[in-house]
Amino acid sequence: MENAEMDSGVTAHFATAHRAQLASFRSFVSTELEPLWRELGEPTAENLPPDIKRHVRRRSAELGFYAPEYPGRLGGGDQPMTVAALLRHAAGRSTCPLAHAAMAGSEGPTWLLTHGTPEQQDQYLAPLIRAQAMRSTAITEPGTGSDMFRLATTARRVGEGWLLNGHKIFLGNLDRVDHILVFAQNEEAGADRSVVFIVAAGTEGLQVRQSFQGMSGEPLFELRLTEVRLPEGAVLGGPGHAHLAMAQAMTTQPIARVLAAAECNGLAEQALMLALAHAKERSAFGQLIGSFQHVQELLVEARTEVEQSKLLTLTCARRHADEGEIPHEHASMAKNVAARTFSRTVDRALQVLGGRGWMKGHPLEYLYRYARMMPLVGGTTEIHKVIIAHALGLGSGQARPSSAVPEDPWGIPGQAT
Ligand SMILES: Cc1cc2nc3c(=O)[nH]c(=O)nc-3n(C[C@H](O)[C@H](O)[C@H](O)COP(=O)(O)OP(=O)(O)OC[C@H]3O[C@@H](n4cnc5c(N)ncnc54)[C@H](O)[C@@H]3O)c2cc1C
Repeated sequence: MENAEMDSGVTAHFATAHRAQLASFRSFVSTELEPLWRELGEPTAENLPPDIKRHVRRRSAELGFYAPEYPGRLGGGDQPMTVAALLRHAAGRSTCPLAHAAMAGSEGPTWLLTHGTPEQQDQYLAPLIRAQAMRSTAITEPGTGSDMFRLATTARRVGEGWLLNGHKIFLGNLDRVDHILVFAQNEEAGADRSVVFIVAAGTEGLQVRQSFQGMSGEPLFELRLTEVRLPEGAVLGGPGHAHLAMAQAMTTQPIARVLAAAECNGLAEQALMLALAHAKERSAFGQLIGSFQHVQELLVEARTEVEQSKLLTLTCARRHADEGEIPHEHASMAKNVAARTFSRTVDRALQVLGGRGWMKGHPLEYLYRYARMMPLVGGTTEIHKVIIAHALGLGSGQARPSSAVPEDPWGIPGQAT
């Protein structure tokens, strides 16, 4: 599937106003990233050297691709969310894994930090947007993951500051971060209140260990916090904002989810492209396999589902661009559909490739494992269904109005990683 074919797809009109940006991103990939990737011996995404990823992030930030949707005053591009979604899609769609590394991921800027004070935004968010720093977000614990309202990590007010104690697991990037966004239970404010702290790496009382390795190669870490002393200024939002932190975290989740959906759609399209190319060149029983209707069925269904998913994702991005917000349940629908479409597309593509797709080192073999992660991160599939059910006025023992965004953000569970 060539770019021209995709550009004339159902969703092509979303890109019309941003063709120049997409073209310059593709040119960046073909003139800088692909040659670099070949020079490195064409490693798979799980084997990319960390220093090369850092170089790619910085170069991408210089060119305005890394975090285009963030405010210009902090180093972002002041671009509408549609641009961010289209670039994520283009990066996922590229068969060059360095293109993927050119987009801000869990190490990069997070909209959560836009709730920081102006000083916190300058000190922590701006370097992330410029790819000059890395962060991690620490929510998950041995006893709780999805339910971030019952954290065992505690924050106790001591004099003018805070004392943190706890244990976090499954954290990304912790070996190279500059700071960590730690979610903790505020002992002072009662059982249902959490607070977010910005904790500098290397703060006394932090202990980091790599204890896990994800199925698609991600090193994941555990973090122990023992009597970690923090000043009042470490609270996200600044002094007096401890009670607001979790509610604010909730408001920024839809953005991350729609961008994750865009990434899934791009990766699904990459898988589809690989399968389509194979179907057009591989013969069996004296014919191209693409002429068999059973093979066509796999490709046609995949193409249709990918376009459906793109419509949902790009409509959410456009809504943010036009109205400055995305209703929670819309983002949840987009993320669930995209994660499912990605998995189903890779599965179908692998079937078209036959045994080749299953072999270690083949891009589809990696995508197959990577796709399995998407329904787990950024809120599990089930948590997104809970959010959609709440928006329908359903829920466990608490009927809600069917307004687009429930007034009480505490009713919306799920992680903001
Ligand atoms: C690659 C990867 C990277 C990660 N990076 C980070 C990170 O950087 N920082 C971080 O803090 N965490 C991170 N995580 C952890 C991730 O956010 C959690 O795994 C996720 O939130 C789910 O939590 P859990 O694993 O504890 O599962 P649980 O919350 O225990 O859920 C188990 C099952 O129960 C279901 N379930 C739970 N509650 C409900 C409900 N109310 N209704 C219906 N079903 C429900 C879930 O959907 C799931 O199927 C990462 C995980 C992975 C795989």
